[in-house]
Amino acid sequence: MSRTVLVVGAGIAGLAAARALGRHGLEYRVVERRPHPSTAGLGLNLPGNAVAALAVLGAADDVRAAGVPVARREYRTAGGRLLFDVDEARFWSGTAGSICVRHQVVLDALTAGVSVDHAVAVASLEQQADGSVNVLFADGSEDRVDFVVAADGVHSTVRSALAPATPRPSLMTAASWRFITANPGVDCWTAWTGRGCTFLLIPVAPGEVYAYASSSQGVDIATLAHAYAAFPEPVTRAVAQALAAPVPPYHSPVEEVRIPTWHHGRVTLVGDAAHATGPVWAQGAAMAMEDAIILADLLAETDDWSTVGSLWEQVRRPRVEHVQRATDQLSRLARLPSWLSHPVAPLMGPRAYRATYEPLRILKKT
Ligand SMILES: Cc1cc2nc3c(=O)[nH]c(=O)nc-3n(C[C@H](O)[C@H](O)[C@H](O)COP(=O)(O)OP(=O)(O)OC[C@H]3O[C@@H](n4cnc5c(N)ncnc54)[C@H](O)[C@@H]3O)c2cc1C
Repeated sequence: MSRTVLVVGAGIAGLAAARALGRHGLEYRVVERRPHPSTAGLGLNLPGNAVAALAVLGAADDVRAAGVPVARREYRTAGGRLLFDVDEARFWSGTAGSICVRHQVVLDALTAGVSVDHAVAVASLEQQADGSVNVLFADGSEDRVDFVVAADGVHSTVRSALAPATPRPSLMTAASWRFITANPGVDCWTAWTGRGCTFLLIPVAPGEVYAYASSSQGVDIATLAHAYAAFPEPVTRAVAQALAAPVPPYHSPVEEVRIPTWHHGRVTLVGDAAHATGPVWAQGAAMAMEDAIILADLLAETDDWSTVGSLWEQVRRPRVEHVQRATDQLSRLARLPSWLSHPVAPLMGPRAYRATYEPLRILKKT
């Protein structure tokens, strides 16, 4: 009997779901409300488990070819003093190494071979007594499918239809600036932290860096220059370049979703729709792709799809909650005054890195 899965959203989670379903020969339809493929112009830091998930999905080669390996991290004060560093290449050796790459490269790699129906937005859905799901689209049309993978992001329409929950601001920062610019002279992942501000630069392509700056000061672009004016030269140079560029830096809220259940009957929320988490440990793409891989495995293995959401959540919740806890811990540490956090950082920082990533090195399927 042929059964169809509807995938809502063609971000990383939805495209990963499509690829993962395709690996098992399962039939799917991907709908995306945007009229055209994305042209996301930002960067993504992909720790080793994200690259490993891309490899499972057959999409790692293009990402490796376009991105820059993240071999070392340096955590510095706002004045430039090194607090501690992490030999990231060594930590992830034996698995896939970490990479920083343009977001668009990841979307393109996951899209290859996947057909997406653009300009199709899900408006609501209803589970039927026979186990199928009736889906209503914004243009008034309807579809009946056997399973729904809701990968429609932090403001998920599907989540709102099932169990409304308002995203909350991330503990680390409620908003951020992001941009890609010419490399101002960093050779590795480098973060500078001081008085409620964090500025991160990561080489993302030859001659280019991806910049992320926390922003609690407001959306006016002048606040970006003001907040980081006293930071070391790579930061001030990157900011000056960004302010002179034709496309202004991208300002957006940083929101989180923490909800008690990620499945309702034959509808399962994945990626940011289920558990958007502040990018403190850069696990958004990894968790989204892992969600997709495990869910597709279960759909392929199990005849009774009414049980799959619950089986899937049992596997995924401990790992995602580990990331959420680690995110909260580092966010609280970062909010301490520097006279308290900086003396303990050389000891606590490397420990927190290992404690966060060690359990993520291998993707557990049960
Ligand atoms: C400031 C910031 C920095 C980040 N940095 C990193 C990082 O360095 N590394 C990392 O791994 N992660 C990072 N993330 C998180 C990461 O980008 C996401 O977790 C990841 O992209 C997964 O997103 P998604 O596919 O679940 O959702 P989205 O990317 O939001 O995709 C959802 C898709 O669904 C579509 N859609 C929405 N509603 C409907 C509807 N009703 N019908 C049809 N389609 C719909 C949308 O148009 C969209 O294309 C960061 C996030 C933020 C906010």
